[in-house]
Amino acid sequence: MRRERAVIERLKQEHTIDREGLSCLLGTEDGESAAYLAQTAREAADAVYGRDIYIRGLIEFTSYCRNDCYYCGIRRGNRLAERYRLTEEEILECCRQGYGLGFRTFVLQGGEDPYFTDEKICALVSEIKKRFPDCAVTLSVGEKPRASYQAYFDAGADRYLLRHETADETHYRRLHPPELSLAERKRCLYDLKEIGYQTGCGFMVGSPYQTVETLYEDLLFIRDLGPEMVGIGPFIPQKDTPFGGEAAGSVETTLRLLSVLRLLHPHALLPATTALGTLHPKGRERGILAGANVVMPNLSPVGVRKKYRLYDNKICTGEEAAECLSCLARRMEEIGYRIVTDRGDCRRDPGKVE
Ligand code: SAH
Repeated sequence: MRRERAVIERLKQEHTIDREGLSCLLGTEDGESAAYLAQTAREAADAVYGRDIYIRGLIEFTSYCRNDCYYCGIRRGNRLAERYRLTEEEILECCRQGYGLGFRTFVLQGGEDPYFTDEKICALVSEIKKRFPDCAVTLSVGEKPRASYQAYFDAGADRYLLRHETADETHYRRLHPPELSLAERKRCLYDLKEIGYQTGCGFMVGSPYQTVETLYEDLLFIRDLGPEMVGIGPFIPQKDTPFGGEAAGSVETTLRLLSVLRLLHPHALLPATTALGTLHPKGRERGILAGANVVMPNLSPVGVRKKYRLYDNKICTGEEAAECLSCLARRMEEIGYRIVTDRGDCRRDPGKVE
């Protein structure tokens, strides 16, 4: 108890934690300490973002992927995955609907699909920016050469999400096939930052072989990169992948890590993810109450949602965008927060590393 308090005080005052401190907070069985951690993190979020929760409209525009990550349901090797691609018109229609609902950020996410050449992505980004000039466009389309990232940026993309997945070399190799490397993943993230994107990294909580040590490496990497966003959510097995028989990550550990991240990086944009909502009926609310300040409702056409199956039992695959949004708005209000309709940029001085 006293130990936990000391670690939390140091997080709050100095925005730092050491390995032992992290181990203490993740391992504690003292419910009061866990509640105090969440409360302290929520206060830190309130101090920067108040009771505002930002929304991002997620458009899952392709389920084709050339990669074979062991955890992911849309990996190339999954013969049972249903593949689809949205047309440019369909994507623009999602944006139009989303705009009408109040979304001012569109996140285009997909597998690494060679069909979507740089030319197509640039054309898409500039068309969205032309039609919706007051909106931010976020891309989440995986690892690309620096020149491609630069081209998307020049076409108008504002933000890029690329979870680093784990900052530990050995762990990275156990989650990915040999052709993928942590060094390349990091190269992408540093390029994105240098080009000027608001950049998001992140990792799954409870992925196979993860330890407190690898999580501590994640925290060190995040400090070094200085991203605007950090996306974390529990690992959830997808039955047709090599990790289909593994256990899901823990909701409780995810919440504690969200709180630690909030206290380390008070200005960060931290989503309460769909994966968290999938493992617990109040997962996203609990995420907000542990310090998150972003939610990412699905704007993909209902007909394709079940096909973008990164993991099993994903929620919100049956409802229209409007229903998803009103459901989330209600959930946020129930806990004393409100969804706001602006671009929701990071409130940190550019260039400042916390
Ligand atoms: N191709 C893009 C988008 C990947 S999907 C890219 O490489 O960035 C987005 C995120 O979903 C991944 O970064 C991963 O962290 C998460 N994800 C994949 N499979 C998952 C699973 N089984 N459980 C939980 N999250 C998963």
